[in-house]
Amino acid sequence: MTYDIAVIPGDGIGNEVVEAVEPLLIDVADAHGVGMETTWFDWGSQRYLDEGALMPDDGLDQLESFDAILLGAVGHPDVPDHVTLRGLRLPITKGFQQHVCKRPAYLFEGVQSPLRGYEGGDIDFVVYRQNTEGEYADVGGREHRGFANEVAVQASVFTREGTEKLLRPAFEAASERSGRLTNVTKSNAQAHSMVFWDEMVEEVSEDYPDVEVERLLVDAASMDMVRRPDEYDVIVASNLFGDILTDIGGGIMGSLGLAPSTNINPDGTYPSMFEPVHGSAFDIMGEGIANPLGTVLSGSLMFEHLEEDAVAEALWDGVAAQLADADAPRTADIGGSATTEAVADDLHDRLV
Ligand code: NAD
Ligand code: MN
Repeated sequence: MTYDIAVIPGDGIGNEVVEAVEPLLIDVADAHGVGMETTWFDWGSQRYLDEGALMPDDGLDQLESFDAILLGAVGHPDVPDHVTLRGLRLPITKGFQQHVCKRPAYLFEGVQSPLRGYEGGDIDFVVYRQNTEGEYADVGGREHRGFANEVAVQASVFTREGTEKLLRPAFEAASERSGRLTNVTKSNAQAHSMVFWDEMVEEVSEDYPDVEVERLLVDAASMDMVRRPDEYDVIVASNLFGDILTDIGGGIMGSLGLAPSTNINPDGTYPSMFEPVHGSAFDIMGEGIANPLGTVLSGSLMFEHLEEDAVAEALWDGVAAQLADADAPRTADIGGSATTEAVADDLHDRLV
């Protein structure tokens, strides 16, 4: 089987990690008899600065026939963040109905968590973040700029379809894992959207009697994520809360540079997209020292989605073995001094 993969490296360290990791993914897949053909798209902030848009008008049409999309990151010091996010990533996740943002947080052996007392495997949970609506819906407006009566409105949108398409895969995962699911909301303050969400969780939970549902408010959940991360298993959260919780996840797994992410179209009608959790990292871009492993793990999740489990496992286990090896090269964010390229090359030597 050969898969056609669209590659959008994007900006800053997004470029650096994708350039280092793409050849590794191709060669590891090939070693398992799986073909991966890539088409690169130079979309991102440089295109915006040159031509006024991060991607062409028919961008989604160009991507639609691919089996999956590999994204680096977008974000540029000279372009406002809301322009970059809304110019590329959000049109793809919304347009291709990628309702499910599944983000595992796993503390690998050989990586130091900033939390005391946790060892490899102790932290092992997965956040299912609603990825197409909620607080990131493009509904709102501004009036009377600069005047005393200035007002800005940013509405949240929660639909039955968008919520249910996130919850079902999360309950499936909980059922296969420990049978525990934590529902994170703010339904005390957000009495419309989050109470609706809670009711949806209750409704869907009736189809999964083996899954025990725990409810937490997002403020308490954030505190618990640093106090008792080992007690979480599957977490469901809205777009904004899931975004925030998964950066905490990246932090407690030792580095945001290790955290993988997926944007899954659960119906399989459009391609799904895979990317590290991190952004373009202005503070280290151009230095060649970004950790490429979050992107490798995202590649693993891409092959898992394509049902190429041998490739997915080889990549995941390869990263785990490299991190567990104290003599292996590692980047500065996890206590080493190696370059992005050296880490990817070492992984290549181990796996191919
Ligand atoms: P960031 O994730 O880029 O960086 C946060 C911190 O983590 C920085 O100190 C950075 O050096 C470090 N870091 C991140 N990835 C790393 C890696 N692979 N290796 C080593 N260290 C790493 O978040 P930010 O600084 O808030 O945002 C920078 C830009 O990225 C902004 O324009 C933002 O909008 C954008 N962004 C894009 C995405 C995306 O494309 N999906 C996600 C988050 C942020
Ligand atoms: Mn984020």
